[in-house]
Amino acid sequence: MTRTFEWQPISGCGYYSPGCTNCKTMRFAPQEARDRFVADGLVVMVGDDPIWSGEVRFDQARLEAIRQQSAGVLAYVCPHGDLFHEKIPDTWIDRVFELAEARDDMAFQFLTKRVDRQRHYVNRRYAGALAPSHFMFGASVERQREADERLPQLIATLGTRYVLVYPMLERITLRPFLRDRAIKFVLASDEPERIANEEWIRALATDCQEFRVPFSFGGALVGAQ
Ligand code: SF4
Repeated sequence: MTRTFEWQPISGCGYYSPGCTNCKTMRFAPQEARDRFVADGLVVMVGDDPIWSGEVRFDQARLEAIRQQSAGVLAYVCPHGDLFHEKIPDTWIDRVFELAEARDDMAFQFLTKRVDRQRHYVNRRYAGALAPSHFMFGASVERQREADERLPQLIATLGTRYVLVYPMLERITLRPFLRDRAIKFVLASDEPERIANEEWIRALATDCQEFRVPFSFGGALVGAQ
């Protein structure tokens, strides 16, 4: 089994679309982490509910932690936030990519809802060539609307690509995006608060099977995306 590492050099986020409503990091962080978020100004309490403030923070020590990881580890990049959040400057993202590029003995899974920025950043950084093969770029979608908006951007990102349907809020077809091996794999899951209909899951699995794209539902999901 592949060992994994949650690499969180940047913290903080903000509501983006309906998939964020029950953001795990924001709402279900352990008390200690929540207290730290509040102290850092990343979260504000509205009654008993923690809400992202929209502020973001860079942590050099957490960035450097990637150097201590063993070869073969799969790193989830900023799983409790969104690396491509509007307030995160390119210079911070550059530092994340620089260290990830140097660790080509590991694998790195990026995941965002802000796919337009991910596409621009990646395609510019590698000047139209493919991103390093130890990187995977994901888009998180929750309804057909988000899939139709985000997946063309994902497919235009020059590198290995995958889709996370989470939380699955309705029946979603990915058929237009599964052709020509544009997507390497599809993951999906739901939330305790918003359970997916079994028919939606079966239909998505059938689509993936037809195009020979690996699919799994309900596997271990890391982070808030
Ligand atoms: S971490 Fe993800 S789910 Fe949470 S608010 Fe940010 S984009 Fe939304």
